[in-house]
Amino acid sequence: MRQRALPVLMALVAACGGQPARGGGEPTWDVAAVRFGTLAGFRVRSLIAGADSARRIDATLMVWPLRAADGRIVLVDAGFTRAKFITQWKPRDYVTPDSALRLAGYDPAKVSDIVISHIHWDHADGVERFPGARIWLQRAEFETYVGPAGEAKQPAIDPDVAAMYRRLFTEGRVSLVDGDNVEVIPGIRVHTGGKHTFASQFVSVHTAGGPVVIASDNAYLYENLEQRRPIAQTLDSLSNLAAQARMLTLAGSARFVVPGHDPAVFTRFAEGPPRKATIRR
Ligand SMILES: [Zn+2]
Repeated sequence: MRQRALPVLMALVAACGGQPARGGGEPTWDVAAVRFGTLAGFRVRSLIAGADSARRIDATLMVWPLRAADGRIVLVDAGFTRAKFITQWKPRDYVTPDSALRLAGYDPAKVSDIVISHIHWDHADGVERFPGARIWLQRAEFETYVGPAGEAKQPAIDPDVAAMYRRLFTEGRVSLVDGDNVEVIPGIRVHTGGKHTFASQFVSVHTAGGPVVIASDNAYLYENLEQRRPIAQTLDSLSNLAAQARMLTLAGSARFVVPGHDPAVFTRFAEGPPRKATIRR
């Protein structure tokens, strides 16, 4: 029994930890938002539950590179590249996510891992631009949306995206994550995201100045976080509000929670080099 006691204790400590660990040699990451396009004139009511239907916003399309001291890059979300999405949505100022990274001063070949927050096409489609990267996704998200033959099990996932994820899984490129507050890479944790999709997740990152949270679409805009308003597209509004409250607790303030589509990310954190806003605290 004695041999079992220490691993059990360590598992309990890991399960109870609500904050990213500090100090102790844990690697720190630099966090940025990189924009690869804009959906002009997007209805705010599609982003914030109950918003005035006349309000419009230029919704920013972003990926979030995390860079370690040794140059390794972990990407949160992968944007999109498929021609049909570009034709249908006509994003303004669009470049492929890997091109946007290059413009922002990153080498896309150094992307070792991609943490996918959820399976919507505008966040999950672009992974094949990073052929060496390992992909991290919640198991429940994968099993809910990607069928055994690569079919889309629900309309929330694009059929081509579903087929691609099944193929990547078969090729051994996808690591499936189980549950909440899981450290997928030292200094990078994933958390249950409040039902934007069935098992959407958000990411907390250990930086030199303290934790930074990447909400992705679990909080579309700062307004969601600052006014405690659920996102318009959630399977469970109360779960979404609870997840947003948790993001605020983890980050300490809304300033260090990066929302999924808010153009203000590039004014609250000045843009430069082009397409890059450094989220420094
Ligand atoms: Zn989404």
